[in-house]
Amino acid sequence: MSSGKGKTPFRIVVILPLLLLTIALASYFWPNFHGKDHFSGQSEANLEPPLLTPLPQTPETMSKTAGLFPPALSSLGRLPDWSQLDRFQQTITREEFLHRLDTIYSKNEGWKRWIATNDKLALINTGNAVYTLKFTSGPLRSPGAIFPFKKKSDLISFKSHRLTGLHIAIDPGHIGGDFAKIEERNLRYGDHEPIQEGTMTLLTSTHLKALLEELGAQVTLVRKTTTPVTSLRPRDFTGRDQKSAEKLFYRSAEIRARADLINQSIQPDLVLCLHFNASASPVPLAGQNFHIILNGAYHPAEISNQDERFEMLQHLLAGTISEELPLAKKIAEIFASQTGLPAYEYRPNHPYATKLAPYIWGRNLLANRLYQCPVIFMEPYTMNSTDFIARHKAGDYEGQRLVDGKMRLSVYREYAKALADGVAAYYRKQ
Ligand SMILES: [Zn+2]
Repeated sequence: MSSGKGKTPFRIVVILPLLLLTIALASYFWPNFHGKDHFSGQSEANLEPPLLTPLPQTPETMSKTAGLFPPALSSLGRLPDWSQLDRFQQTITREEFLHRLDTIYSKNEGWKRWIATNDKLALINTGNAVYTLKFTSGPLRSPGAIFPFKKKSDLISFKSHRLTGLHIAIDPGHIGGDFAKIEERNLRYGDHEPIQEGTMTLLTSTHLKALLEELGAQVTLVRKTTTPVTSLRPRDFTGRDQKSAEKLFYRSAEIRARADLINQSIQPDLVLCLHFNASASPVPLAGQNFHIILNGAYHPAEISNQDERFEMLQHLLAGTISEELPLAKKIAEIFASQTGLPAYEYRPNHPYATKLAPYIWGRNLLANRLYQCPVIFMEPYTMNSTDFIARHKAGDYEGQRLVDGKMRLSVYREYAKALADGVAAYYRKQ
């Protein structure tokens, strides 16, 4: 969709792509998209009505259509302030912009319905206006992220404290405790105590925090107890059935509250989201796996939401992937070698996942989308496997014990150590 040379009249450069976009939009009927209720993720359902309003081209047509159609937003999504992208003006080349869209962020060229580019700029349909992003023709300039995060190259590494100067937030996935049933993270097998993901991620976090601090990092836990970060509860979402209200509470409101905490007050250099995976099997089977999720692989229907389109561009322009991908590769290498877990594979041509490297997948989850710095979303182990159940029964303990036929650390300490070692290995100066 590139158009024009430098001397082409402004009307052709700007109006023509807009006209084409308008035609594309008007002729396009959005398919109903029911976001899959993945066990591991917070992929949100988008049941917004199809957007049929033509792209406004002038202030006159904009004011005529303003307010006629509700903005397309994700669940509990906020209307974006597109001027926040101003800090990214002339910081990225067109080539890199398109490369990140095509290889990391967008599935099936879904971005093309909303973004048109030429050599000098990208025109982004915000839903009720057009945002113009100018490219740089020179080398990439360091963008001003929403808050500045330190990269590996910014750190002065010391031998014994190689994470000195790095602020890491650990986000123990889910809530656990009394909330484990509501959030459907409460597996029961026989009369053994329930396997609660949110309780286990918190326990793992406390071990991980100690290890990262030993390495010199400043570490902040996004939650310290098995209580929600949000002050909202299911009863606050009136006018809907109980299940829907519960989902809005734990899947949207809770993650959004954590995002506010991270983006507005913690402002770390890196977030480690801790989770445990599970299979779809209704009965425990042998065999576990592991993968890491990075923000990416936006489905066309997700990009059609104003807030998701904006948040995707925030990540793309801030360049979080440049830090996330090499870090994830190092973590995957160390984590796999220490735990022996094989790589999890999504099925080929999965509509919501893109393979970025062995063990590493792009997926658009609410947490890795909203947290405005590099985010590593861990999905190791398989909670409903016979192997894991044996380790859960063994509990948390110091040193090694014979569990499931092998001398092992407790699963929580093994998880924490393998992750801390992976992070430390990445930040080691060559
Ligand atoms: Zn989880």
